[in-house]
Amino acid sequence: MADGLRLISTDFDGTLIGHPSDGRCVPVLARELADFKAAGGQWVINTGRSLEHALEGVELFAAPVEPDFLITNEREIYRRGEDGGWVDFGEWNAGCRERLGELFARAEPIFRRVREMVADAGDVTLIPSADAPEGLITTSEAVMERVVAFLDEVRAGVPEFAYQRNTVYLRFAHVDYSKGTALRELRRLLDVPREATFAAGDHYNDLSMLDGEVAAHVGCPANAIPEAQALVRAAGGWVAAETFGAGTAATLAAARHRAGAKKTAAA
Ligand SMILES: [Mg+2]
Repeated sequence: MADGLRLISTDFDGTLIGHPSDGRCVPVLARELADFKAAGGQWVINTGRSLEHALEGVELFAAPVEPDFLITNEREIYRRGEDGGWVDFGEWNAGCRERLGELFARAEPIFRRVREMVADAGDVTLIPSADAPEGLITTSEAVMERVVAFLDEVRAGVPEFAYQRNTVYLRFAHVDYSKGTALRELRRLLDVPREATFAAGDHYNDLSMLDGEVAAHVGCPANAIPEAQALVRAAGGWVAAETFGAGTAATLAAARHRAGAKKTAAA
């Protein structure tokens, strides 16, 4: 499978499973993932979930095959350790934590404005963390639109200060660390070229891996936000007719066919 897909990067919520759903892998996706891994491919779940929450999701998902890697919090890369647990892959996570700590210390004036906004708003909740806040949750996506406009204003003087947005959740971030840059680093660690990489996602926090720059083959299920669908189309990828896991299975099958791993067209 020298010219086939070697690495696939899938978001979790909204891409492998519906929200809400029972959290189980649908049969058509189970077959596609098992077939891809049987052909020697590697799979990373690339999610905004924490490592602990991602592992809970993977267990409930109960796919016939396991992911080889996890990218969590939209930035940290994990591989299997000697004892079967998940450990940092390479130096990336250490560098990420150090640079985030440095940035967030410098961004205290931004966090002060955010705390004031949250205290006044009533429909926004901060997610606390040891030093700086981790992120925030809004009561609706309409409220999130307002919060994002506010953040774009108050972060203007600190170009490294970014955020990852997913439905009513938002995580404060460093502009250099995203699903896209983490996937690029994973490719480097595994020595997998862009042309042998596929990525699928459905929301704002997936856009950094759906523009065709990090993965040559991209796809999204029918439930993906319009911005994701437009990016995937512009990159020559596939927007599925089906939602969630079934849609992702269809785009993965199409990508494998184009990349040369399958002898016959996807059904
Ligand atoms: Mg998602």
